[in-house]
Amino acid sequence: MKIMSEPSYLALYRSGELQKRAARVTAMLECCRVCPRDCRVDRTRGKRGYCRTGRYASVASIGPHFGEEAPLVGFGGSGTIFFSSCNLLCTFCQNYEISHFNEGAEVQPHELVDMMLRLERAGCHNINLVTPSHVVPQILEALPLAVEGGLRLPLVYNTGGYDCVETLKLLRGVVDIYMPDFKFWDPGAAKVFCNAPDYPDRARAAIREMHSQVGDLVTDSRGVAVKGILVRHLVMPEDTCGTAEIMSFLASEISPDTSVNIMDQYYPCYRACEDRRISRRITRGEYARALSRLRMPGSRRSVRHKCGTGVFVRTSASGVLGRKNLTGRTPSLSWTPTAEKGMLGYTMIAIVHSACPWGTDALGVVVEVDVHAGLPGFSIVGLPDNVVKESRERIRSAIINSGLEFPPRRITVNLAPADRKKEGGVFDLPICIAVLCALGIVPQERISGLMFIGELGLDGGVRPVRGAISAAFLAGKQEFRGVVCPETNAGEAALSGVKVWPVRDIKEIVQYLRTSLPDPYTALPPLKEPGEEALPDLADITGQDLSKRALEIAAAGGHNILFLGPPGAGKSMLAKRMPSILPPLSREEFLECTRIYSAAGRLGKGPLSTSRPFRSPHHTISDAGLIGGGSIPAPGEITLSHNGVLFLDELPEFRRSALESLRQPLEEGSVTISRANGVLSFPARFQLIGAMNPCPCGFLGHPSRECRCTPTQLSRYRTRVSGPLLDRIDLHVWVDPVDASQVLSRKSASASSSIRLRVEKARAVQEERGCLNAHIPEQKIEKICRIDAQAGKLLVQAMKTWSLSMRGFKRVMKVARSIADLDGSPDVRSDHLAEALQYRPELAKTLS
Ligand code: SF4
Repeated sequence: MKIMSEPSYLALYRSGELQKRAARVTAMLECCRVCPRDCRVDRTRGKRGYCRTGRYASVASIGPHFGEEAPLVGFGGSGTIFFSSCNLLCTFCQNYEISHFNEGAEVQPHELVDMMLRLERAGCHNINLVTPSHVVPQILEALPLAVEGGLRLPLVYNTGGYDCVETLKLLRGVVDIYMPDFKFWDPGAAKVFCNAPDYPDRARAAIREMHSQVGDLVTDSRGVAVKGILVRHLVMPEDTCGTAEIMSFLASEISPDTSVNIMDQYYPCYRACEDRRISRRITRGEYARALSRLRMPGSRRSVRHKCGTGVFVRTSASGVLGRKNLTGRTPSLSWTPTAEKGMLGYTMIAIVHSACPWGTDALGVVVEVDVHAGLPGFSIVGLPDNVVKESRERIRSAIINSGLEFPPRRITVNLAPADRKKEGGVFDLPICIAVLCALGIVPQERISGLMFIGELGLDGGVRPVRGAISAAFLAGKQEFRGVVCPETNAGEAALSGVKVWPVRDIKEIVQYLRTSLPDPYTALPPLKEPGEEALPDLADITGQDLSKRALEIAAAGGHNILFLGPPGAGKSMLAKRMPSILPPLSREEFLECTRIYSAAGRLGKGPLSTSRPFRSPHHTISDAGLIGGGSIPAPGEITLSHNGVLFLDELPEFRRSALESLRQPLEEGSVTISRANGVLSFPARFQLIGAMNPCPCGFLGHPSRECRCTPTQLSRYRTRVSGPLLDRIDLHVWVDPVDASQVLSRKSASASSSIRLRVEKARAVQEERGCLNAHIPEQKIEKICRIDAQAGKLLVQAMKTWSLSMRGFKRVMKVARSIADLDGSPDVRSDHLAEALQYRPELAKTLS
């Protein structure tokens, strides 16, 4: 048969016939006999008949629908316009909110035109007019305007089957695809459930007329329907629908090649429970018996699973004709119990891989979805937190609002491993894909080897999640094909080197999975180089040469530093300029920091920074905020400072317990947090900068102000920072207030950029040795921090004079090594050691 290249109504439009029919439709409404209800009311004057629809049509929803029959859905979806109300009003209506309760809004003809054109622009294959029997005049009225607007899609007349032949004759040459229901064969049943005892007669006559207009279903080379009739039959409990008689009628009086969709999704809705016969779902046996009617001698019918989009099978008496479906799968070739399994909904299991943040790494999670018959429900197991549990509502709304079908089934989701707590919205997308896969809308083989992450909005949009880069690294490690992630996360995920497919909404990913994935995303996220950031410069600070020198030494060797001094001396200003003299992050450090910030949800939308992190938490911070914590531990400030600087201003004001918890990470460069859900280790290799006043009033040791603190106050203040913590700080620097003469001096200070060059040079030497001086292992101190004889004498003297502990001794050696590196000296000389010693007076001694 010749495949049509344009819808039939265009020829009618060119002949002027379409416009003539449109001009006559208002008269049809003046004494309405549009449908078999024959109400004869004047709808143009606001009178309403059985369908409760007046002069203009009402529309409940529009959108691309991917849950319709595969030949209608194709690749771009069926462009559905769902009209409100109905002329049948079945007691068991599956869409009773729209039909009985008239959900929707009245639309003028130009608005209806606009809807059709929007669906065409959205890439749909057809305009699917759902429940159109009572609004045929309004459709005809709008169609010429739509043609003038550019509409070129075939019309699908998706009706309940209760249509007047006279009205259908007006649609000859207008509608290309008819999709009528044939609900009941028995007039008694039609009377009880639809208040339409003439329904069987009307449906038979209507289907004859439709078939005479368009013939059997024809698809193009892609398998997309272009013309013909496709009959739907909903199997009802206790065969109240009369399946055998209907199939026999279609085979003998319409065509042995009639395409039929035998639907199994009956579910007692609205007032169905008032009648015992239809107050339950159908059984396997009932559906199997309905299917067996398809094999009646002489019948050759096309059948499609309602829940198995893409499986499109043609059976015939002489054998079975297999046909490739739209997704490229070879369909089942006969109605075996296995083939029926999906339709009957015994058990359909889909598996999708995902991952969630686990510390700064990712935990691989397998999402298993089981969809089967039974009381409708949606449960999630596998230790989900409340956010994960709430994903049920997001997924349901997102699927429906994406124009996909969400049939009433019993859905069970398992998140494995089941003994690890799962939190966050990251599982929305994988669960949604698994549900769609189990329902047959997405083929399982297309999702294998992919990892899915993403949170869903109610409109089907995919929102960013935490830890996308770690998930992508995990996907690469486990040799996945790639990661499907929210568009916003694509850049960070691409840093891992695995293939990334960003998605904006469910419709987009469903389309990809039903056809083919596009080229993977390759663009890396924009980076902010250190020079591009306006960091505060050390040149802004007048005087304070000793403090600046100490800052340079600390930057060169990665040492911790403590600034002591009265209020206003410039301690905070000095600390905040540390990032400006530190070298930029290496690639490994940058990836580490990006993973940490991604896991903490702090990446932000702008370019990623290659400068070293600088964190300055307030002194009221909790222990968990500083170290990390939560039921599933999240990174704290020390981890956010990894590879950078942690500045604690007003050090004694921090909680003692919080400060003490710094001791382990300062030594080991990591922190280990144990919770009931597991033990997590976070990186925490940071430089600590502390700032504090010498006493509660701040003026102890001030050159011109008098300290008014009592000895008791002083003693209490000193004990707030423990000796072991102070001992882990390599450089103690007294910051005097700047002298007035220095403020007015025009002597220019060194800029941060020149200091950074010296720091980078010193660090390069240390990198060759294997690590920064602050992290030299104990057993290597003697070898790396080699001192000459004069320096050795000086060190012995200092140890005696100041009673240096062994830890203090080692720290002095490391600081001296950094000074020597800045000096470009292979050995630590006495002048290097002497300078290092001047940063070593313990706090207590300074105060005394
Ligand atoms: S279209 Fe509505 S008003 Fe007209 S006959 Fe049918 S039910 Fe009655």
